[in-house]
Amino acid sequence: MRTNPHPNRRHVLGCCAAAAAGLFSSLLADDSAAAPTLRAMPPTLAPPPPPTPKPALPAAVDDLLARCFDGLDPAALWDAHAHLLGVGDAGSGCRIHEHLTQWWHPVEYVRRRVILGASGVDEAAPSIDRAYLDRLRALVRDFPAGARWLLYAFDDAHDDRGRIRPDWSTFHVPDAYAASIAGAEPDRFAWVASIHPYREDAAECLQRALAGGALAIKWLPSAMNIDLRDPRSLAFCERLAAADLPLIVHCGEEHAVPGAGRDELGNPLHLRAPLERGVRVIAAHCASLGQARDLDAPRLRERPAFELFARLMDEPAWRGRLLGDVSAMFQRNRSASVWRAVLERSDWHGRLLHGSDYPLPGIGPLYSLTALVRAQLLDPALLPPLNALRARNPLLFDFALKRCLRVGGAGRAAGSGLSPAVFDTRAHLARPVSKVSPDGTA
Ligand SMILES: [Zn+2]
Repeated sequence: MRTNPHPNRRHVLGCCAAAAAGLFSSLLADDSAAAPTLRAMPPTLAPPPPPTPKPALPAAVDDLLARCFDGLDPAALWDAHAHLLGVGDAGSGCRIHEHLTQWWHPVEYVRRRVILGASGVDEAAPSIDRAYLDRLRALVRDFPAGARWLLYAFDDAHDDRGRIRPDWSTFHVPDAYAASIAGAEPDRFAWVASIHPYREDAAECLQRALAGGALAIKWLPSAMNIDLRDPRSLAFCERLAAADLPLIVHCGEEHAVPGAGRDELGNPLHLRAPLERGVRVIAAHCASLGQARDLDAPRLRERPAFELFARLMDEPAWRGRLLGDVSAMFQRNRSASVWRAVLERSDWHGRLLHGSDYPLPGIGPLYSLTALVRAQLLDPALLPPLNALRARNPLLFDFALKRCLRVGGAGRAAGSGLSPAVFDTRAHLARPVSKVSPDGTA
C-alpha cells in the first residue's frame, strides 16, 4: 500500500503533468466522470468577445513564422499535448491539492506560483479558471485558422482497491470540463479524457468519453497509480483497441528513485502490455526523462527511459502502433543526445507528434537556446527572433523552435530537422465519423 502523500514531489518541472502535480488544493467534490452526461460549459467560462488587435510583430519574427508555417497544413497541426488547469472557482469542477496554496508547504506553494505565471494568470484575477482559459484562447488566436489543441482532463489517483485518493491527487480536471471547452470551440479545441482503469465505473466513463468525442485517453501511471499490466488496465485497453482510441501514457521520469512512490510504473517497457492488446499508444515526451529498469536484461539494471522507448520503437511488432509526442523534448532538462536522436531518427518521424505541454513553454528557465546552439542544433542567428517570439507567445515559440532545429549537413540551415509529418498530428488523432455511433460505441 502506498503511503507517500506527495507522489509527485520529485518531478518538479520535468513534465507538465509532473509540474502541475505540484499545483493546487482540493476544493470541490468529484462529479465529473461519474456524471450521467458530459455537461455544458459553465456560463462563467464561455468565450469572451473578440479582443482588440495586438501590435504588429517585428519583421524578423514575421519572417521566421512565415518560414515555420511554410509547407505545413495548419488544419493538420493539432497540438497533441496541452493541459487544462483550474481551481474550481468558476464552475469548472477542477481542483488542486491544498498544499499548493499553503505557504508552509513552500515547494508546492512556489510551484503553483510558477505555473500560474507560465499560464499568464494573475493570482488576483476574479477567477483563476477563467483567466487560464482566456490566456490560452488569446495565444491560440495567433495561429492560422485550422490549428487545434487537444486539452487534457486528469483523473484522480486511485489506490489498488479502486478508491479515489484525494490525498494523492495533486490536481484534478474533470472529463466534463475538457469536453465542454472543446464542444464550445471545436474549431480550436478537442479534448482528451482521463479515466482511471481501477474505477468501478471505468467502462461507463469510457462510453461517455467516446460519445462526447474524446480523441484519446491520458494516463500518468506514476502519479495516478496505474499499473499497465494490471488486469483492470488490460480490460480497459481491450475496450480502447475495439474503439480505436489511442492511449497517451506518460513514461520515464525526472530524478527517479526506483522503488520509491510509484515511479516504477512509468517504465516504458510496460507499454508492451497495452500494445499487445492492440492499443495505439502515444508515449508522452518519448519517455525522454529519467531512468527505468531494463526488464529485458538478465540482471536488473537501470537504463535511460528514452533508450527503452527507442527499443520499443524499433521492435517491428509495434511499428503501426507505438507513437511518441515531442512535447517538452527540447527543454534544457533533456540531454543533447536525446535531442540529436529525435532529430536524426527520420524513420521515426511519421510516428512522432507535435505537442507543446502547455503551459510549460511559458516557464523561461526550462529552455536554453544557447545550449541548443552549443549542441549545433540551432542557428545562433535565430536567437533574437525566437526570443522575441517567446516573450510574445510561448505557444508560437515552442512550435517555431521545433521547426528551426537542424542536425547534420554542411551548414545548419542545410541540415535536416523534424519532418513535416511530425506536425501532421491530425493524421493520428482524427476519429472517423463512421466509427462513432450515437451511444458512443465504436
Ligand atoms: Zn504534460
